Amino acid sequence: TLISNALADDTGIAIFRARALDRVEKAAEINVASGLPSLQSLRTSSELQPGSLIALKLRNYRAITGSFVQPIEAQLAAEIVRRIRITDPGAVVYHESDMFIWSSVLANPVDLFEHLEGLHSLVQNGLIIEDREIDVSFNCGIETQPDRPLASRVGAALQSAEQAVRNDELVCLYEPARNEVQWEVSLLSSLDRAIDNGEVWVAYQPKLDLLTNRITSAEALVRWTHPERGPISPEHFIGIAEEYHRIERITRFVLHEAVRSTLSVLPYCPDFTVSVNISAQLLRNSGLPKIVFDALNAYGLHPKHLILEITETDRLDRSSATHDMMMAMVNSGLQLSIDDFGTGNATIDYLRYLPAVEVKIDKAFVAGIERSQEDVLLVQSIIEMAHSLKRRVVAEGIENKEIKEILRGMGCDQGQGYYISRPILMDDLRTLLGAELDRVYS
Ligand code: C2E
Ligand code: CA
Ligand code: CA
Repeated sequence: TLISNALADDTGIAIFRARALDRVEKAAEINVASGLPSLQSLRTSSELQPGSLIALKLRNYRAITGSFVQPIEAQLAAEIVRRIRITDPGAVVYHESDMFIWSSVLANPVDLFEHLEGLHSLVQNGLIIEDREIDVSFNCGIETQPDRPLASRVGAALQSAEQAVRNDELVCLYEPARNEVQWEVSLLSSLDRAIDNGEVWVAYQPKLDLLTNRITSAEALVRWTHPERGPISPEHFIGIAEEYHRIERITRFVLHEAVRSTLSVLPYCPDFTVSVNISAQLLRNSGLPKIVFDALNAYGLHPKHLILEITETDRLDRSSATHDMMMAMVNSGLQLSIDDFGTGNATIDYLRYLPAVEVKIDKAFVAGIERSQEDVLLVQSIIEMAHSLKRRVVAEGIENKEIKEILRGMGCDQGQGYYISRPILMDDLRTLLGAELDRVYS
């Protein structure tokens, strides 16, 4: 089938070429340098271009063509087209200087984005031209509104490709109103690279044992410091990553970092545990245990040092596959914690059947205990209920000494918050733990 596909493909091109060549007299329909149809021929084409238009800008086009004595535009174009067709079979590629444009049947920006990432890695392996290996770098603009006039669609795709270059993002989606979708897709399109080049990192927020005044645990919190936009809030990009099913990549990264860092802390604190947030979406993924144990096994860390923070999800009954999966993970030694407790509609029954050893009270209630009698009662009853079921209680969002003392008085086991420490670098946490022995948080 590969050969017949290739044949069908070539016949298609031949027919297209013949047709295009017929018209060459009328307008400059062929790019003379590359032999590909020109952008002008696309703009004036009466053929409907379904799906999305993708403009690929070869950033170093001039540098490449200029580095050869003989003209190599045609060879370069053929190499680019060949790779485009690996992921977009049969695509007709139009060309003008450093821009290549084609229409793709994919209409969903996220599919397109994944597809262009594939193309990116194909091209990254280098192209061979005249026995020389050429490094190519490109950015893409996408236009996804087939109902608009072709000429303005082409313009929009080109413009978005330029925008992608400016943002240093692989893909930029054209949006007339530049609304959230644009921002989200471009954010997503730079996520993998951001993880690879260190823009995404992990901060650790210590958890203080309120009885002994010692730090024995920390929560891993993901951070993204964008080179131009500065810090992007995890609430924002985690939400988008969940929506577009990209949370797994982030969680893998955080798990690996957290496990690796924990190993480096064990000499100072042999009982140290690290907490990692697991989104509800990942909890429904049967591959979660493998993701978790891959990270533990990569560094040889015992599962008892890891706590997974999960949020209440509705309809998580005892007979569900998720419940079985949680049981299996707990039986292999790691701990579960119910995050943001009190914000959902968790009942005592829920707490009883979930194999979680820990309950975390959300900062929304903790902050209020200084002022609101209602919040005091709520926090008090969560602590009592949890203790009656032999669960440990952690209060989040302790911002001053008074709150810490009230919680200690209520019998809360652990506390976390700006008063104890902001989320910090692992190196700083290690220093903190090293100095722990004579430090008292009173
Ligand atoms: P969360 O799990 O409830 O984490 C606690 C949040 O409260 C953190 O915000 C933390 O920096 C903040 N916080 C800590 N102490 C205080 C305090 O004393 N006062 C106040 N006002 N806030 C405090 P952050 O780091 O912005 O994280 C926000 C949320 O993003 C987290 O809420 C969690 O749901 C999510 N998140 C963070 N990292 C990850 C991750 O690796 N994976 C997943 N799935 N979600 C994550
Ligand atoms: Ca959490
Ligand atoms: Ca919370």
